[in-house]
Amino acid sequence: MIFRQLFEPESSTYTYLIGDVASGRALLLDPVLETVERDLALLGELGLELAYTLETHVHADHLTGARKLRDLTGCQVAGPAMDGLDCVDVGVGEDAPLVLGHLTLQPLHTPGHTATHHCYFLERNGIGRVFTGDTLLIDGCGRTDFQAGDADALYHSVRDKLFRLPEDTLVYPGHDYQGRRVSTIAQERARNPRLRDGIDLPTFRGIMANLDLPYPKKMDYAVPGNLECGRCPDHLVQQMRSLCEVSVQGTPT
Ligand code: FE
Repeated sequence: MIFRQLFEPESSTYTYLIGDVASGRALLLDPVLETVERDLALLGELGLELAYTLETHVHADHLTGARKLRDLTGCQVAGPAMDGLDCVDVGVGEDAPLVLGHLTLQPLHTPGHTATHHCYFLERNGIGRVFTGDTLLIDGCGRTDFQAGDADALYHSVRDKLFRLPEDTLVYPGHDYQGRRVSTIAQERARNPRLRDGIDLPTFRGIMANLDLPYPKKMDYAVPGNLECGRCPDHLVQQMRSLCEVSVQGTPT
């Protein structure tokens, strides 16, 4: 297995490149529009063909690179079937894992940050990894105050689903704002200030109700754009327009 953790600094998003050596096929989990060219260059360097993009959820803080990657490579766009998006080629769910050569990504429905958010568990040669999107962050979790967010649901997703994974499972989050890259289930159970063992649901509700977070600055175009797998909406801010031009994006869509 080939594995890279990639970072997009403006939205502090992690994209994960997962490659199957035997087949030479790869997927990009939560690719970002701004870093599509970087990701394609890396795939080229590694001699991998992009088979899929895969989303954990409909993001509010960045535009996904999925559509552009499909335009440029002919890959398939995968994401939670529950989202019911017309632009998704392969719908995944707990009963519909994503198989890439010898690798299987097992979707885990983890509502809370959004209602249809999925994490992905991957086990290879005894090493478990879980890609937690915005459900579980290192020493934190995603917000639950928009996109049908629900603090109670997030608490149960983490405590009843993610924290029941083997304790040495590596936790790879969708974001980190302080340069942390990886954690473990045991570490989050012991240390996560919002969700560690011993914190009850009413306490968690209180934490989430008092975060006082700013409105996401890209949300008004990121969400509608991502409901179309990263189509650039008409009202896109000026500084992002070049990312969406046909000459860059490939075939007109
Ligand atoms: Fe998110």
